[in-house]
Amino acid sequence: MTVFCLVETDDGAITDASLRALTLARELAAKGLAADGLAADANGSNGGPVLAAVVFGDPPTADLAAYGIPDVYAVSGIDGYAPQAWARALDELLSPEPAPEMAGHAVVAAGTDRGNEVLAHLGAITGLPMAANCTAAVDNGGALEITRQRWAGLLLEEALLEAPVALLTVATDAVSPVPANELAAVAVHAVAPVLAEGDLAVRAVETSAGTGGASLATARVVIGGGRGVGSAEGFAPLEELAALLGGVVGVSRVVTSEGWRPHTQQVGQTGTKITPDLYLACGISGAIQHIAGCSGAKNIIAINTDPDAPMMTRADYAVVGNLHEVIPALVAALRERAAGPPVFPVG
Ligand SMILES: Cc1cc2nc3c(=O)[nH]c(=O)nc-3n(C[C@H](O)[C@H](O)[C@H](O)COP(=O)(O)OP(=O)(O)OC[C@H]3O[C@@H](n4cnc5c(N)ncnc54)[C@H](O)[C@@H]3O)c2cc1C
Repeated sequence: MTVFCLVETDDGAITDASLRALTLARELAAKGLAADGLAADANGSNGGPVLAAVVFGDPPTADLAAYGIPDVYAVSGIDGYAPQAWARALDELLSPEPAPEMAGHAVVAAGTDRGNEVLAHLGAITGLPMAANCTAAVDNGGALEITRQRWAGLLLEEALLEAPVALLTVATDAVSPVPANELAAVAVHAVAPVLAEGDLAVRAVETSAGTGGASLATARVVIGGGRGVGSAEGFAPLEELAALLGGVVGVSRVVTSEGWRPHTQQVGQTGTKITPDLYLACGISGAIQHIAGCSGAKNIIAINTDPDAPMMTRADYAVVGNLHEVIPALVAALRERAAGPPVFPVG
C-alpha cells in the first residue's frame, strides 16, 4: 500500500491543515500495512515507499522528517498554484513508468479549498471517486472505511470507499497534528510532470499582500466582524487590531453580502472553516451557519451589545459592549506594548 499526501506550505512551512492530513496519511499507511500482514515499516523496506509527501516547490524536509515521512516528491515546473496542473502531477505519480509496482493506493490532502479542488480535478482526470472532509480512514483490506463530515460538520457520515486508489481530504478541524515518534531520513525525488497547455489555464498569478503570509484558514488569530461593524470603513480598527496581534480579519456573510468585504474573508458554512488559537467575534450574532465555520477555534471571545446573542453563549469569554468603544480601547492598550513581540506569535 502506498499513500501519497499532498502537502501545502505557507512561507516555507507546512500548513496546520496539511500537518493534520500527514497525520491521517501516516496512520492509514501503518494500518494498511498491518492489514496486509506486513510490518508497519514506513521507510519502504517492504518494496517501494509506502508513505510519501508531494510538495510543489521547495520541500520542507525538517518538518517532513518530524512527521516521519521517508519520501518526498518535489514537483517543479509549475509556477504557483494551478489546480489542474497539480492534479496532473499527482496522476503521473499514481501510475509511474517504468515501475508500476510503486503505484499509489491512496492520495490524501488537506480539506482546504486547494486540497479539495486538486483532488476533485484528480478524480475527474482518473475517473476515481473522492471523499471530502474525512475525520478517519481505515483500510479493511478491500475498501477504506471512512468517517467524514457532512453539512459543514453538523453530521458525521460513515461510509465505505471502494476504489483502486482512494482520494480523500482531511477535515481541517478534526484530526490533531501529531509528529512521529521517530525522525525520518527524508529522501527527495525530483518530479517534472508533462503538462498540456490547458493544464495551466487556471492558475494563481498573485497572492494578496498585507496578511504577513497568513491565510484565513491557517491564521492563529482571527478578528471577526459582522453587521455590528456597520460599514466598510468600520473595519479599519479591526484591521489594526489584527495587525497588532499577528492575525487576519474574517467576516460574517452579511458583511460580504453588503459588499463591505470580499467573500474570501467569509467565515462559515459557505465560507472558510477556521481553526485559530483565538477568534475574536465582534458584532456577530452567531448564526448556526457562522458557527459551522468557527467552532474549530481553540478560544472564542465575543463582543456584542446583546448579552443573549448566540455567539455570546458559545464564547469562552464575552464582553457586553459596543465594539466601536471596546476595539479602539484594545488597540490603544496593545499599541503601548507594540515595541515588544506579538502577543500571539504567528504560526
Ligand atoms: C444557506 C446559508 C448559508 C449561510 N452561510 C453563512 C456563512 O458561511 N457565514 C455566515 O456568517 N453566515 C452565513 N449565513 C447567514 C447567517 O444565517 C446569518 O444571517 C449571518 O451569519 C448573520 O451575520 P451577522 O452576525 O453579521 O449579522 P446579525 O445576525 O444581524 O448580527 C449582528 C450582531 O451585531 C450585534 N451588534 C450590533 N451593533 C453592535 C455594536 N455596535 N457593538 C457590538 N455588537 C453589535 C447585534 O447585537 C447582533 O448580535 C448563511 C445563511 C444561509 C441560509
